Amino acid sequence: MTTVADFLLALPFRYEDRRHFATVASLEWERAATILVHFQGVRSIRMRRGLLRVEAVADDGTGAVRVVWHNRYPSFAKALAGKRAALYGSPVAGSKGEMRIENPETELFDPGEEADPIHSRRIVGVYHRVADIPSRLWRTLARRTLDALGPDFRTVSAPSARILRALEEAHFPSHVDSARAALSELAREELLALAARIEDRRARLRERPGIVLPAEEAIRQLARYVLPFPLTRAQKRAVREIADDLASGRAMARLLQGDVGSGKTVVAGLAMLIAAKNGAQSALMAPTEILAEQHAESLAAWLTAAGVRLGLLTGRVRGAARKRLLEALAAGSIDALVGTHALVESPVKFRRLGVAVVDEQHRFGVAHRSRLFRKANPSPHVLIMTATPIPRSLAWAIYGELDVSVLDEKPPGRSPVLTRVRDESARDRVYRFAGERTAAGERVYVVVPAIEEGAREVAATRETAGRIAAALPEVGIGILHGRLPSAERQAVLADFASGRRPILVSTTVVEVGVDVPEATLMIVENAESFGLAQLHQLRGRVGRSERRSWCALIVGAAAAEEARRRLAVLEQTSDGFLIAEKDLETRGPGDLLGTRQSGLPPLRVADPVKDLARLPQARGEVLAMRAEGRVVASDLFGYP
Ligand code: ADP
Ligand code: MG
Repeated sequence: MTTVADFLLALPFRYEDRRHFATVASLEWERAATILVHFQGVRSIRMRRGLLRVEAVADDGTGAVRVVWHNRYPSFAKALAGKRAALYGSPVAGSKGEMRIENPETELFDPGEEADPIHSRRIVGVYHRVADIPSRLWRTLARRTLDALGPDFRTVSAPSARILRALEEAHFPSHVDSARAALSELAREELLALAARIEDRRARLRERPGIVLPAEEAIRQLARYVLPFPLTRAQKRAVREIADDLASGRAMARLLQGDVGSGKTVVAGLAMLIAAKNGAQSALMAPTEILAEQHAESLAAWLTAAGVRLGLLTGRVRGAARKRLLEALAAGSIDALVGTHALVESPVKFRRLGVAVVDEQHRFGVAHRSRLFRKANPSPHVLIMTATPIPRSLAWAIYGELDVSVLDEKPPGRSPVLTRVRDESARDRVYRFAGERTAAGERVYVVVPAIEEGAREVAATRETAGRIAAALPEVGIGILHGRLPSAERQAVLADFASGRRPILVSTTVVEVGVDVPEATLMIVENAESFGLAQLHQLRGRVGRSERRSWCALIVGAAAAEEARRRLAVLEQTSDGFLIAEKDLETRGPGDLLGTRQSGLPPLRVADPVKDLARLPQARGEVLAMRAEGRVVASDLFGYP
């Protein structure tokens, strides 16, 4: 909590109708009501830590009802004597079956005085309990704050009157529907503010001058002499869009969005080749060491053939090797550097960074991205790749300032991965099938969920590997988890790729990017503990060649029917966007994107699922208002 706006934007999460005082005689079981009473026979019973259980009989002339408050300070019991009160609560059965009200919200006032209209005789808001502040106090503070601001709420500009009215209604609704309308109004304001921010960032990104990098020669070279396959139509289109950006004189800020297996790496590689052909350097930043190593390997196959000098920088390149690498980079004798976020650390200096590629960017904070931007002046052309199909609404919030290229097509000959949800009784059969696949020279992934990284992760992979070893004693099994030192990790992956150990039991470290075309079967244990988008991503590790591929989602015995139904979507479709929409509906954006670094701006009022769908429309409004010179958005929401 830092500003008045922060405070006022902590809005009620529900409302209670306290417009009418009920009579005690008319109270009904389990039915919340507000009554206006005085007290008789106040008694307190000492409980632990000096707290009291306070009992009293509340009477309003039509009848009497017993009231009990738990965990009160002695001062509370004293204050009851001789007071009148508005009580809000639901009558329940006491120990002898009598009607009583437990822990009602209690508002005391002197005889002759009126009940405070903030808490009763109206619809009142109920607030999330933050820092142990009860709703009542929250309400009082909101009232005082709104009163104090009054018409002088100058921290917000033109839209202030409207916003202030909406805040007033959201905290203190004047009638039944006004709260909902007010919340919707505030959500709209928030979306406008967000859209305005995105527009500003977009404009700022577009102002950056960029090195002019003509692309034609590189494209011809790559397509004719280097790549072992023709590009798909979608890849060609993306390459064209990128080439135009690179030659435009303004710095590129482009998102390359393509489902798993759609062939993003080669597109990125081409951008890197274009840089090299023009005497500029390029960098590719991947979220994990495994991925960085994989990228370095696949890019090496193409780029080295085209004369590009490639370097790999991860946390494990240390000492003299690191020093040599950094010197080569600064001297310009490395053309393309692949690595993890180690790339954006301060000692890393490029001689002339022209193109920066970021893979799976939502796994990085926005801060990482901008640090890469600052590695060169003028700032480099930036290409961001993501395989997470992001529903359009969310994409706007996260990537709204970027231009977008979409790979909506897979390389030819790929058939959808046959996917089945199975319970544990099918596990033996699935393992036998795994044995058949490896006997046919193919590879099998087995993924186990790791709730937390660490010892449990290691134990989970070992246990599963042991079970498979018992079922398939002849077959080599590798184990991969986040705790493995990276040299061993590489050895395990190499053994898997070469077929020496054709079954790989791993945690989700293989989720993104790992590319072993011979893999044809993906088995996921306890599949119910994954989000759909994540399973789709895992499934993307197979079906990467012209061979038929399968995915077995094994659900635990305890998994509810509902979880199975959720997973069944994967049996029916391989459309990543559809799957992502479903995930967003059922589990929210945190799950879809990885909670910590979703890249989604914090939303104060708007709902990240329902309301974000209105963001493109909000953008339209922002553009229209700007064109008319009207003030667009309030800075209430704190989007800089
Ligand atoms: P992703 O988009 O998931 O990163 P990759 O770039 O890893 O996909 O590509 C998946 C696989 O498809 C790789 O083995 C890659 O070499 C191959 N590939 C990419 N483009 C083509 C193409 N046009 N024709 C055939 N294979 C391709
Ligand atoms: Mg990839």
